[in-house]
Amino acid sequence: MRRLPVFFVVDVSESMAGEPINKVEEGIRTIITELKKDPYALETVYVSIIVFAGKAKTLVPLTDIISFYPPKFSIGAGTGYGNVLRHLRSEMESNVKQTTLEAKGDWKPIVFFMTDGNPTDNYVIDLGAWEQTYKDKTNTVIISIGDNANPGILKRISEQILAFDEANGESYAEFFKWVTASIKMQSQKVDEGTGDGEISLSGFDTSKLKKVDPINESDVSDTDEQYAIFQGKCQNTKNNYLIKYKKGSANMGFIDMPNLNVQTFRLEGSYLLDNQYQELSDESSLSSSKSFSTENLRGMPNCPACHNRFGMAICSCTKIFCLDGGGQQTCPHCGTTGNYGAGEGHIDLERQQG
Ligand SMILES: [Zn+2]
Ligand SMILES: [Zn+2]
Repeated sequence: MRRLPVFFVVDVSESMAGEPINKVEEGIRTIITELKKDPYALETVYVSIIVFAGKAKTLVPLTDIISFYPPKFSIGAGTGYGNVLRHLRSEMESNVKQTTLEAKGDWKPIVFFMTDGNPTDNYVIDLGAWEQTYKDKTNTVIISIGDNANPGILKRISEQILAFDEANGESYAEFFKWVTASIKMQSQKVDEGTGDGEISLSGFDTSKLKKVDPINESDVSDTDEQYAIFQGKCQNTKNNYLIKYKKGSANMGFIDMPNLNVQTFRLEGSYLLDNQYQELSDESSLSSSKSFSTENLRGMPNCPACHNRFGMAICSCTKIFCLDGGGQQTCPHCGTTGNYGAGEGHIDLERQQG
């Protein structure tokens, strides 16, 4: 039987922590539930889930719809386009049946490549290899989440690019609805014997999803970081967690000087990391923690591991940990015990001298 392979390639870099990755998890569950009701999809569709941060990993190998169990996603550091394209190519080579003189292979694989950032690895060679091999042998659709990804690079993975604004929760729902419909349509074409045709990039609500014209250079956004992300360690459980702030700007109120805007970052949340974090991260992304002025941060996270009220205490070793109030506290990174002051409704999070 000729299968219709569908690969979901999902960016799980740190900026995806929290709401975005939860939405993707939920979306994939919905797709599978819907496809289980579709006789054509049940017969032909095989789904695989690949995730990538600095490094890439197959969470679910090509599996038929009935046996498919939606996975839990973990976060990692970095955005390795080179690594994930190489991984995807090797998955295609070993798991997708090629058509030979004797037998018809699988139908043209569909790839949904979801990303919200820019590559942090040296992707040039693997991107070139992808262009020369699987770019035309797959129906690849890029889903650019938010406005931070670079269409100039993405269009070399595929000319079919959809963009949506992650701030609008309905965009995810609309997108996954469209994915479900397009898989169903393609599996129906398979039934009619025309399953190698192009996937149609139409039929979605254009107020929530937009097609990116890869030729139009004005679509190239700046690559400013949208997030300030920090890693902390729980003083009690020793679990690692991420703290995510989103960029916004606050005018300081100087009406005569409209340019005097201060870049501030608002708290989005704090999220527990699991043991996949190291495995999905590349060394360079881990070590590149930039120094950052905490003055521009708005909002204090709690600790997602032990629920201490202050998730962002900074030790003299410069690392971040959690504490519940003032007094003697021990940094779980370096083991130093120090005194932290707590005043009326606030806490001095920098370790006091002496
Ligand atoms: Zn804690
Ligand atoms: Zn320390």
